[in-house]
Amino acid sequence: MVTNAVDLPPGLRWHTPRAVLIGDAAHAASPATGQGASMALEDAVILAKALRDAPTPAAAFADYDRLRRPRVETNIASSAALSAGRPPAKPQTPPLTAEELIGQLSWTTPLPSGTRSQ
Ligand SMILES: Cc1cc2nc3c(=O)[nH]c(=O)nc-3n(C[C@H](O)[C@H](O)[C@H](O)COP(=O)(O)OP(=O)(O)OC[C@H]3O[C@@H](n4cnc5c(N)ncnc54)[C@H](O)[C@@H]3O)c2cc1C
Repeated sequence: MVTNAVDLPPGLRWHTPRAVLIGDAAHAASPATGQGASMALEDAVILAKALRDAPTPAAAFADYDRLRRPRVETNIASSAALSAGRPPAKPQTPPLTAEELIGQLSWTTPLPSGTRSQ
């Protein structure tokens, strides 16, 4: 596939105390992995849960950033590698297990507050 899509670099700021970016606005990836819409939908659920559970919007935005950044930035790196014909690099943090991801996305579970940040 040939497109003019580009991958946003990692480490960009996603939120201020009163505003937050989700989906492609925060972490657009080239479409090689075909994950961008899924990532945007996951963002929406995690941000909604963070706003439900955190004491302030600013705290919710920080929780959303902590939980989502490793997963979406791994996707960007994988997509960029595929687009360049390289094998994906090993993620810096281990990917979530299916059970961990389902736990994050299930509306009835609280968001993890510990050190497991992906
Ligand atoms: C060629 C291609 C193939 C892809 N294939 C896949 C795939 O197979 N699977 C997958 O999961 N993802 C795929 N993606 C990625 C996926 O399309 C995006 O990651 C996803 O659409 C991002 O959703 P979003 O809601 O963040 O942004 P968008 O879908 O871009 O939504 C943003 C919306 O905001 C609107 N908007 C912008 N500015 C304003 C404004 N000022 N006021 C009001 N509205 C505004 C835009 O018109 C748009 O409707 C592909 C992308 C491309 C380019």
